[in-house]
This record gives sequence, structure tokens and C-alpha cells, in this order.
Amino acid sequence: MDRIYAPWRIEWVERDADPIDGCPFCVLPERADAREARVVARSDHNYVLLNNAPYNPGHAMVIPDAHVEDWTDLDGETMLDHARLKSATLAASRRGIDPDGFNTGINLGGGAAGGSIDHLHTHVVPRWGGDTNFMPVVGDTKVIVEAVDRSYEHLHEGFAADDDVVDPGDLEAGEAVRLSFDSA
Ligand SMILES: [Zn+2]
Repeated sequence: MDRIYAPWRIEWVERDADPIDGCPFCVLPERADAREARVVARSDHNYVLLNNAPYNPGHAMVIPDAHVEDWTDLDGETMLDHARLKSATLAASRRGIDPDGFNTGINLGGGAAGGSIDHLHTHVVPRWGGDTNFMPVVGDTKVIVEAVDRSYEHLHEGFAADDDVVDPGDLEAGEAVRLSFDSA
């Protein structure tokens, strides 16, 4: 069966035990346990969050710390940091989960573009030859949660091996990897 691949449609799905009050992309990076929040890496002005309801395991998003809605609203320093963190995310994913390729992109304009959260975010979706939409194929919440847990561990290892790491973070203690890029 042919499927239309629409990796940008699913955004964040809340887990029942842990309701989010307000914008999830503002709330989640403030949580003490980065691993539980699915925050895997941070840079000076942006962070990387794993999608909790991924089309494919390892579906990550690069997100500015500040609540900004449009790419054109980013200041130059944050934009460069965002691009460099996206680059580091691709490298970490290649090291950690070794996909065949990626889809990466941004939805702007909310519902019209398929997005459901207006806080700017760049999707990085790993692809494998012959993969299909992971969600409908698996269809089992427990399996999906375990797959996201494993992806988190592999991406964390991938980020920790980056040249721009300033603190590799303790995975078991729920700490994200901290990176910082030269602004030059
Ligand atoms: Zn926000």
C-alpha cells in the first residue's frame, strides 16, 4: 500500500501522567529531568527535543529557547546557533542510529502548514530505505515509548561524541548533552 509520507503532521503528544500547562516547547526544557522531558542536547540558544509520538524512531526537533514563531523573527546569533545545532543533530543521529537519510524542514503558519505548535521548530527525521510510517505500523504505545527511550540513549551518545561538547551530561542522572559553538 502506498502512503503519503507526512512527517511534519504529528507534533507533541502529552503523556497522561505529566500534563503540560502552556507551550510545551517552553515548558519541557525547564524540567529538571531532561531525559524524562526528552530534551537530549542544549546549545547556547537552542535545544533538541525528541518527538514523543514519532513517525520514525529518532525523530528530533531543534527548537529555540525563546518563544519565537517565525524563522524571520530569529536574531542572527540564535539563527546561526540553530543551524549549527541542526548540523550537530544530523551528525549525532548518524553516529547513534545510522539512518540511510533524513527529512528535515519547518512548518510556518500553523494549521495551514500542518503544524500544531506555533513555537518555531526544525524537524530532523531519520529515514531508512523501505521504511513506512512507524506509528501506524507499530500501533502499540508501549513499544513506541520503548523505541523513543532507545533513540534518546543512542542520540545522547551521538551528541556526547561531538567536537563542540562542553558537558557530555550524565545520561543516568537525566542530564542533556551541552554544546557550545564558536560564534565566529
Ligand atoms: Zn513556546
